Amino acid sequence: MQTIAHWLDGKPFAGTSSATAPVTNPATGVVTGQVALAGVEDARAVIASAKAAFPEWRDTSLARRTQILFRFRELLNERKEELAKLITAEHGKVQSDALGEVNRGLEVVEFACGVPHLIKGGFTENASTKVDIFSIRQPLGPVAVISPFNFPAMVPMWFFPIAIAAGNTVVLKPSEKDPSSSLWLAELWHEAGLPAGVFNVLQGDKVAVDELLDNPHIKAVSFVGSTPIAKYVYQRGTASGKRVQALGGAKNHMVVLPDADLDLAADAVVNAGFGSAGERCMAISVVLAVGAVGDELVAKITERAKTIKTGDGTRDTDMGPLVTREHRDRVAAYIDAGESAGASVVLDGRGIQADGAADGFWLGPTVLDHVGTAMSVYTDEIFGPVLSVVRVDSYDEALQLVNDNPYGNGTAIFTNDGGAARRFHNEVEVGMVGINVPIPVPMAYYSFGGWKNSLFGDSHAHGIEGAHFFTRGKAVTTRWLDPSHGGLELGFPQNK
Ligand code: NAD
Repeated sequence: MQTIAHWLDGKPFAGTSSATAPVTNPATGVVTGQVALAGVEDARAVIASAKAAFPEWRDTSLARRTQILFRFRELLNERKEELAKLITAEHGKVQSDALGEVNRGLEVVEFACGVPHLIKGGFTENASTKVDIFSIRQPLGPVAVISPFNFPAMVPMWFFPIAIAAGNTVVLKPSEKDPSSSLWLAELWHEAGLPAGVFNVLQGDKVAVDELLDNPHIKAVSFVGSTPIAKYVYQRGTASGKRVQALGGAKNHMVVLPDADLDLAADAVVNAGFGSAGERCMAISVVLAVGAVGDELVAKITERAKTIKTGDGTRDTDMGPLVTREHRDRVAAYIDAGESAGASVVLDGRGIQADGAADGFWLGPTVLDHVGTAMSVYTDEIFGPVLSVVRVDSYDEALQLVNDNPYGNGTAIFTNDGGAARRFHNEVEVGMVGINVPIPVPMAYYSFGGWKNSLFGDSHAHGIEGAHFFTRGKAVTTRWLDPSHGGLELGFPQNK
């Protein structure tokens, strides 16, 4: 059985703590490795490595930094299938989906190759007589990235390529459920020529996270995970004076108006609801069927969802297992609760015969109709292959439900009415909006982030906001010619 270690000073680091956690292949139920769980001393050792590497890295020219980034990009592109296989083995998502995740991460690496342009400063000549001013953006120092299980490669890549390109050093704390991708990425950086200590990996749980939040050498934290932990990370990190962006959970609603193309809408619901077994923060989990479309839409969704092949992601399947047995049982319990509360189970994934080992963590696509807004299937983030259909009478009622929801990550509207779509994107209180697009994940050069309980902090991930998050501004005022200050003058300097 393999041991999954930390990564420090450009090589694996076993750490001194003897604590470990099992890593499981969700498609077989077999424990495939033990991941190290850092103690405080291990965390401090990894942070010290990032701190020691910072001065030289921040003074490394942008030209050299971006050459290394380009090399990393080339290696990742050549070897992305290897990484996708690792993801499937620990997360369970099917191969095509794992490859999709790597490709979306790759887009951020490509964006980061152009970061020098985004962190350029400005220059003003003669702001005052013979006084010039320029502004620069400088890196922060060692920064932490704390990531969730559901995108073990893409979510870390939302942050670390930009952080590194901007001159920071990084400590990545991946999810303990699927930690191997982080080490694979660390090896790739090493091969690309990144100096030791610039990219480090700290494996662990709350102990590791708390040290990252409290340690004064960590200057910023980018967190992605569930809402209660995101809020905790934001509060504790900012209390110790750090810059924090903490992206949380979601409950994404898709509104289907009566004039929508129902075949297109049903395809979109099924793809966005059951892709990655619903374990995506941008998954659609609630369909708001407006007016008379309910019966026909539910029939079309169910007909399509029935054709999904659930099974081992290394085989020719569409949807893999859930990440752990506990999580599968928790999601199944939500279906039980919805049924008991009066929702109609029009497609039942409990007890599915999957194309995989008997001990895999299987749950098939499930569609619940006539869901009420007080039911736990509606109020809670389920994070599984469960679609709830809520019937509403009007656009206004649909909008109200989306806006009343405590989460505000993603949403979509399906319609052929441009005016309704225009109203929706203007009125909806959600950070990422799709119009006839079910998973509106922005490209790397836009920023990714939700509103309300889906994000704590002011900065969204990547894009210009990412480049700003990982740098801080400095304004420099200079006078070289005619250095006379006009003698002693204690009044506040005025521009002439
Ligand atoms: P999680 O909150 O359980 O874990 C996220 C990270 O926090 C992990 O690295 C974990 O080790 C750490 N952690 C867990 N408990 C902790 C504690 N008590 N104290 C300190 N650190 C702790 O989330 P998860 O189950 O890995 O991921 C799924 C969640 O992430 C879902 O809620 C999903 O919506 C959310 N998510 C959000 C986005 C987004 O962009 N908004 C993207 C992906 C996932």
